[in-house]
Amino acid sequence: APKKAPEPKPPSTGSSVSQEEDQVPKAEASLMQKIARSKLVTSKAEIEVQRQDPFSPLHSIKSFDDLNLTPKLLRGVYEMGFNAPSKIQETALPILLATPPQNLIAQSQSGTGKTAAFVLAMLSRVNPDNNFPQVLCLSPTYELAIQTGEVAAKMGQFCDEIKLRYAVRGEELPRGHKLTEHIIIGTPGKVLDWATKYRFFDLSKITVFVLDEADVMIATQGHQDQSFRIRKHLKENCQIMFFSATYDDEVMQFAKGIVPNPVLIRLKREEESLDNIQQYYVICDSKEEKYQSIANIYGGITIGQAIIFCHTRKTASWLTDSMTKDGHAVALLTGELSVEDRINILDRFRVGKEKVLITTNVLSRGIDVEQVTIVVNFDLPIDQNRQADCETYLHRIGRTGRFGKSGIAVNLCSHAEMQTTLKQIQDHFGKKILPLNTDDSDELE
Ligand code: ADP
Repeated sequence: APKKAPEPKPPSTGSSVSQEEDQVPKAEASLMQKIARSKLVTSKAEIEVQRQDPFSPLHSIKSFDDLNLTPKLLRGVYEMGFNAPSKIQETALPILLATPPQNLIAQSQSGTGKTAAFVLAMLSRVNPDNNFPQVLCLSPTYELAIQTGEVAAKMGQFCDEIKLRYAVRGEELPRGHKLTEHIIIGTPGKVLDWATKYRFFDLSKITVFVLDEADVMIATQGHQDQSFRIRKHLKENCQIMFFSATYDDEVMQFAKGIVPNPVLIRLKREEESLDNIQQYYVICDSKEEKYQSIANIYGGITIGQAIIFCHTRKTASWLTDSMTKDGHAVALLTGELSVEDRINILDRFRVGKEKVLITTNVLSRGIDVEQVTIVVNFDLPIDQNRQADCETYLHRIGRTGRFGKSGIAVNLCSHAEMQTTLKQIQDHFGKKILPLNTDDSDELE
């Protein structure tokens, strides 16, 4: 089976973003999303397909059995608990595994099964008799490369003959070394160095080239150019697979430069809504009053988990300290933590070791841990002009509603805010936000 991940490297130092913003780089946000969400995101949206050659065959599959995979690989897929292909996989997999190979550009939101799809294609395209790199996957960061490699190791756990190598920081090879592994997963700079400067492997022998997280890739200075330089060395018949969570002009320009004659598939994001959310507010005129409300609510949570959003890191750590002092088990997640610490905290929260997570806007998007039943806005979300930030509000508490799961949102605000920010939010969504009596937490059940 593919080699294990290298030892984790020392954590990066905290970023220097302002307290108000508390944002993390795109690559880190993407990683946190992957960690926080362990399940497939399903979607009711229809898949869109565009291809240059309308005569090229196109079909979708309803079962992994229909893909002519080797029994060992198929076993690995089922071992991961995948019963049926996800929506994007139904269409992408036949394209990725087609003979002759077809190039693909695929866009769908994080969590819809892109990684699993291309990892499956990577493993199935390897010819283990050829002991040189044949499959190359570019990821934007060290951590994202390792994530992908771990999926490959798991899915390929019965394919002992397939070997994998990471081309990431910290991995060093002696001069003159020739790689014998079949699959290389790495970051653009290191891959370029290994291939062109040190000639550890030959890019012209690559038969499958994957570019993952293209939207994150272009957000990093230099990555796009390095990707193009790697691309230039590939043979014309190399199959190219290009993935992105978002779809915009910049990503499509990048895609055009990388992928000739692609089939393009898109799965539009299902919008979040407040349909199944009961929204409440509690008037609190000070931090301390807010704290008391939280303590009351905390006592009322018997099932599920809660996320509490604060506007600044300072408030978030104050709240964490206060609650911890009172004997509540809470976890704090802010942008100043190292990537490793954030991963650990999210991991613990996801498996339920922590019931309450206190955070800032670092977590406003994309984290829909299913078991979260209560979201508390310790501070109402506001933009730079101190107006209600309705988009962030929706991201924090909205659900895609597919499962009809209900949730509770509690907004802590002052009298003044109730008449301004909270009212703006209520008017924007056209849904009533009701007063909540937190002394009687039965209301929350
Ligand atoms: P993406 O790359 O689009 O973010 P992933 O491939 O990482 O999506 O899949 C998201 C989650 O869903 C992962 O936890 C993965 O193991 C799981 N998953 C992927 N495909 C399937 C499937 N066919 N059935 C069940 N779970 C799946």
